[in-house]
Amino acid sequence: MSELALRAEKLDAADELAPVRSRFVLDDVVYLDGNSLGALPANVPGRVADVVRREWGELRIRSWEESGWWTAPERIGDTIAPLVGAAPGQIVVGDSTSVNVFKALVGAVRLAGEGRDEILVDATTFPTDGYIAESAARMTGCALRPVTPAEVPDAVSDRTAAVLLNHADYRTGRLHDLPSLTAAVRAAGAVSVWDLCHTAGALPVGLDEHGVDLAVGCTYKYLNGGPGSPAYLYVRRGLQDRFDSPLPGWNSHVEPFGMRPSYEPAAGALRGRVGTPDILSMLALEAALEVWEGVTVAAVRAKSLALTDFFLECVGAYVPEGLVESLTPQAHAERGSQVALRCPNAGGVMKELIRRGVVGDFRHPDVLRFGFTPLYVGFADAERAARVLGEVLEPA
Ligand SMILES: *Cc1c(COP(=O)(O)O)cnc(C)c1O
Repeated sequence: MSELALRAEKLDAADELAPVRSRFVLDDVVYLDGNSLGALPANVPGRVADVVRREWGELRIRSWEESGWWTAPERIGDTIAPLVGAAPGQIVVGDSTSVNVFKALVGAVRLAGEGRDEILVDATTFPTDGYIAESAARMTGCALRPVTPAEVPDAVSDRTAAVLLNHADYRTGRLHDLPSLTAAVRAAGAVSVWDLCHTAGALPVGLDEHGVDLAVGCTYKYLNGGPGSPAYLYVRRGLQDRFDSPLPGWNSHVEPFGMRPSYEPAAGALRGRVGTPDILSMLALEAALEVWEGVTVAAVRAKSLALTDFFLECVGAYVPEGLVESLTPQAHAERGSQVALRCPNAGGVMKELIRRGVVGDFRHPDVLRFGFTPLYVGFADAERAARVLGEVLEPA
């Protein structure tokens, strides 16, 4: 056994999160794609079967009340809240991230008020956020200005209505400085909108602590909610009374069953709701969140950094110099929970890795992504992934 493999064994033995792995359905594949689709928590199939057979099959319409379906968006929002540093009553679950980006961004421009006619958007953003920002800008009569997150403090001005940023870059894994960027946006009188898809469940976000205005995120990455599980919208409590959703559906009406012709929004986070929630995937998500029982985000973050450090060290040892280049920053303060390596023929390399039991993913044109979900990925996984990468890149 190599020195690195021995160290991996010791690190796994000392890992306080190691027992959490048994809460997931896993096999002998090294699964490093939890930044795209989290693994299946073991309790989810049974819960989903119960929702389908009993709550739907037997109780039918009664379940909207008796099984708590109607209030699931707020209830599950409150379950996610501590994972992103939010007090209860500020998060509602539902719709996709894309739809919530739209609600948040148009809502942000409406909050910013008269005389502000510009939206700043992360130039390196995940594409859907950029597409929606472009449409939101056209709809609200704003100019859209792409800037890198580092440029925001200089670019934000008394013209700026809203600033849409990704907390971590989906390609490189770079973590952006949410506290200081949020403060800069606030100092200019603009409204901040953060996309937490690549950080919620992987590291502390501190929404309340840092005064974030609006935030969105998906739940199928580090929150393991399942394919297409609903996203969430955070509206800071102090803004809720003024939050004017561009998608005012009957579910966010103050009296949804009053069936009134005119819209009057409910108070609080549920103002972010639109139409009938997607109950099956929403309740699968609720069950999936039970894996967090007794787990702190701080412990997850500590293990995530240790894992990505160790993986990079193993890559340095197993992959001959010059064959891959890490796009992921060395500094912990700038690192999310994934490692991105650039190499020629990355698509072919990832295919071969997957064939050999190491699952990451490929992002056009030349990036290998390896996501580390500390709840179920261990140090031996990191060592094996790097070793197999070395074998693929330099066949014996
Ligand atoms: C994954 C991801 C999305 C996905 O949006 P969907 O509407 O769920 O498809 C959006 N933004 C970012 C930053 C992401 O990483």
